Amino acid sequence: MTDIAVTLAEKRGTLTAEDKLGFGKIFTDHMFVMDYVSGKGWHNARIVPYGDFDLSPAAMVLHYGQAIFEGMKAFCTDDNRIVVYRPMDHWKRFNISADILSIPQMDSEVLNAGLNKLIEIDKHWVPKSLGTSLYIRPFVISTDPYVGVKVADQYTMFIITSPVGAYYASGFKPVKIKVEDHFVRAVKGGLGEAKTPANYAASLKASEVAKKEGFTQVLWLDAIEQKYIEEVGTMNIFFKIDNEIITPELNGSILNGITRRSVIQVAKDWGMKVTERRISIDEVFAAHEQGKLQEVFGSGTAAVISPVGELSWKGRNIVVNNNQTGETSQKLFDHITSIQQGRVADKFGWIG
Ligand code: PMP
Repeated sequence: MTDIAVTLAEKRGTLTAEDKLGFGKIFTDHMFVMDYVSGKGWHNARIVPYGDFDLSPAAMVLHYGQAIFEGMKAFCTDDNRIVVYRPMDHWKRFNISADILSIPQMDSEVLNAGLNKLIEIDKHWVPKSLGTSLYIRPFVISTDPYVGVKVADQYTMFIITSPVGAYYASGFKPVKIKVEDHFVRAVKGGLGEAKTPANYAASLKASEVAKKEGFTQVLWLDAIEQKYIEEVGTMNIFFKIDNEIITPELNGSILNGITRRSVIQVAKDWGMKVTERRISIDEVFAAHEQGKLQEVFGSGTAAVISPVGELSWKGRNIVVNNNQTGETSQKLFDHITSIQQGRVADKFGWIG
């Protein structure tokens, strides 16, 4: 196992006002860093004080975006243990993203040891109130000072952490979604399955336009026919139609969400019928017309479950479940957050 050198910060911050944390603006005292140079491999795993760092203006990541990231969470359980939700699944996806972006593979055991050490050092930053967590952001950037297009020879990997507030401080509020029929997020054979900045850059314009039109987010359709449903904003999407849970199958342009996987496993475990298949927007609108569309919800690390109350597609508007949170959405949210907080048995072995 790689040694992880530790340099402690001279001054430690303190976590205050857990009810005012918001998302992603406050960072803990330390970060994990590791370097890569071709020929030498990943080396110099270390924990250092959180802070700005030197980067050449010619660094390849700034020009061609060869970079990846992850997003996961640590929680403080009722009996004061700090646990990470499905860490090895996140590290596995991190390496899948790395492969798609031609970034050298990393040893998941080293990454996880680095993360655990970082959390141990900064444990006073993990908020305790219900719904709060420590958001964990691992990322890799290409650093060669070179403005030609090629696969880089040098990279830096970081893990930074940020205490975040409860996503639903004032309860669930079903969101209003625009079915996007102009912009597309990702194509098969492209980067859709990777957590890489380019996908998020590609989504900004559409969500800006949708917000101006009064929507919370967009529902992405496939890039070829703009017919089949892919994702909702930065979440995977589920439909409950005629008591069956349906989610688009993974097809290369959809991110393989860890919460998506959790939803599928939990719902199947409850004996529900869960199907991963192609589903068109026509089918969803038709199911609504026939009175069979019971619930629509997104799944992702940030919110866990996000109920959809309204869908608008080319000027046609449908209201889902009277704009109320559905029974299955609520039950899944309660159950998955209970596993995360250590309140129910971890029968799937998701707590690391
Ligand atoms: N799709 C996209 C595009 C995302 O950014 C995310 C958030 N990581 C998800 C889906 C949901 O994935 P997860 O459940 O792993 O957070």
